Amino acid sequence: MKKKIVAGNWKMNTTYSEGEILAKEIAGQLKEVPEGVQLIVAPPFTHLCCLTGPLREAGIGIAAQNCADHESGAYTGEVSAAMLASIGVQYCIIGHSERREYYGETDAVLLEKVKLAFQHGIIPIFCIGERLYERESNQHFEVVEHQLQNVVCQLSATDFEKIILAYEPVWAIGTGKTATAAQAQEMHAYIRTVLREKFGVAADNTSILYGGSCKPSNAAELFGQADVDGGLIGGASLNSGDFIAIAKAVS
Ligand code: PEP
Repeated sequence: MKKKIVAGNWKMNTTYSEGEILAKEIAGQLKEVPEGVQLIVAPPFTHLCCLTGPLREAGIGIAAQNCADHESGAYTGEVSAAMLASIGVQYCIIGHSERREYYGETDAVLLEKVKLAFQHGIIPIFCIGERLYERESNQHFEVVEHQLQNVVCQLSATDFEKIILAYEPVWAIGTGKTATAAQAQEMHAYIRTVLREKFGVAADNTSILYGGSCKPSNAAELFGQADVDGGLIGGASLNSGDFIAIAKAVS
């Protein structure tokens, strides 16, 4: 069964006390979220240790926004999957376009991160998506297929069954420009087709989230598409009311 998921990526926002308030507000409104919808939040690293316990107790999943591509050692400033697992972090966003773009993370690096996350029992929320010029030059299917082939299709069937995917067209992230519901559905269905070729019917159970300027006003239409299983939410996840309203829109 595909899980319905709404995940909030706080990015580099909130001081610790602001994050604590936001987490409490989200937990306080959790009863409004339809049963069967898994909420996940991804606060900055500094907040994880203190927020993991209360969020997990409330039934909210906790994700890191990144992890290292090495197990341990002389990698100043990095945080390993083992460290995240040791404080109870359950998920990790990997391959976000901001990491690919600003930190030069390649598919090879991302594959290492995904494998390490799995080795430590952390479920990757793996992001894929094309840039504006790639869509405008009609290369979007090819780009997304390559991202899948180079990382997701390299996984074992057992790991694949656990992964969560997020289709995030780069041109829609933080721009206020959302993919239409039809564009999202078309790409999500394509992603499933690519994955079915490699993993068979297991691909029908993969949760594929949409991300990119998702807000309360457009969430229901996006989430109403057959292959859209929820959302990865950036800006709107910093407001508890908006985040919960988006989660309520999951059908
Ligand atoms: C994101 O960064 O994953 C994202 C979807 O951002 P936004 O919702 O702000 O476009």
